[in-house]
Amino acid sequence: MRILLVTVLLCIVHGIAFAQDKHHLLVITGGHGFEKVPFYNMMDSLGNFTYDHIEQPKANELIASPAIDKYDALVFYDMNDSITPSQKRAYLRLLQKGKAMVFLHHALVSYQQWDDFQRIIGGKYYEKATAVNGSLVKSTYQHDVVIPVKIENPTHPVTKGLADFEIYDEVYGNFLTQPTIRPLLSTTHPGSSKYIAWTNPFGHSEVLFIQLGHGPEAFRSPNYRKLLRQGIEWSIIRHR
Ligand SMILES: [Zn+2]
Repeated sequence: MRILLVTVLLCIVHGIAFAQDKHHLLVITGGHGFEKVPFYNMMDSLGNFTYDHIEQPKANELIASPAIDKYDALVFYDMNDSITPSQKRAYLRLLQKGKAMVFLHHALVSYQQWDDFQRIIGGKYYEKATAVNGSLVKSTYQHDVVIPVKIENPTHPVTKGLADFEIYDEVYGNFLTQPTIRPLLSTTHPGSSKYIAWTNPFGHSEVLFIQLGHGPEAFRSPNYRKLLRQGIEWSIIRHR
């Protein structure tokens, strides 16, 4: 009887501990404006996570320090170009170890001069016309458009339960993707490149990139919130 009671109590305590064991995110912004209140309303709505917020270039100092280890996943909503050689090495070291990293929207534009970054995130938005394999590439953007979104991989944990949807958001066009990407979402919008969300293996990590997410219309979208919640959850589980 006593053993049973102790077992029951332990289960209850364990259950409480599990419920309270929220995953801890680092949300990284800076280098591009955004509407903060609706963005953080969305982050707060995700439920299963607590988060700290830091702006660039301070974020890269934290990423290069041992304090980064306490975060279960890094969520990048920055657009940053300033990074030191030792900070670059820190990104590569973390990815080699298998750190969970999720990149959103204008994070694709970061680090125009750092070639490894496109191999990490799985693509590149070219701010300036650049010769790539003999042809000039310059990326584009278009605000305030209705984007038809197709689920490319409906069985993936990130897209599970989502059906094709439309979202009022911003498209990026003429950005390039790496051959290693594993597509999750695509669009036929004429102003956009085809794939708009993917995972990309790098080191022992598999980063997640979601191009969507410019402003309040996306932040409020139940489809976008579901995508982001499932994306962060998948990323944490994938890198445990
Ligand atoms: Zn934008």
